[in-house]
Amino acid sequence: MKHQCQALVIRCMDFRFRKATIKFVEDKIKGDFDDPTQAGGVKNVDFIVEHVKIAKENHKIQEVYLFNHQDCTAYGGSQNFKSFEEEREFHRQVLNRAKAFISYLFPGLKVYIFYVHFGPREEILFEEVE
Ligand SMILES: [Zn+2]
Repeated sequence: MKHQCQALVIRCMDFRFRKATIKFVEDKIKGDFDDPTQAGGVKNVDFIVEHVKIAKENHKIQEVYLFNHQDCTAYGGSQNFKSFEEEREFHRQVLNRAKAFISYLFPGLKVYIFYVHFGPREEILFEEVE
């Protein structure tokens, strides 16, 4: 079996988003992917760097997908923010910082960032952010 894969996925350990996030990535990319999790998605950048390094050297990944989500306990949950917009903006900035850092350290990789949140019927939605 070929020991290579297309992408590395970094997401929060929160069980509420596990199935939806895996399905989202499986629908989005053709190949396989590594998916270590940590509390807070991209919160601990050292964790990301360590895993990108291993996945790049050993599995020859070409893409990195980073996910942060609404109501994440690692950032104090939704109650830590005044509004949906404020929480979203916070995560947008955190994701962008992580993306910039990974792109700087690993210039050959494509990095995509997503904010995951609940829709009006509690469905899980994925928003690619810039
Ligand atoms: Zn979380």
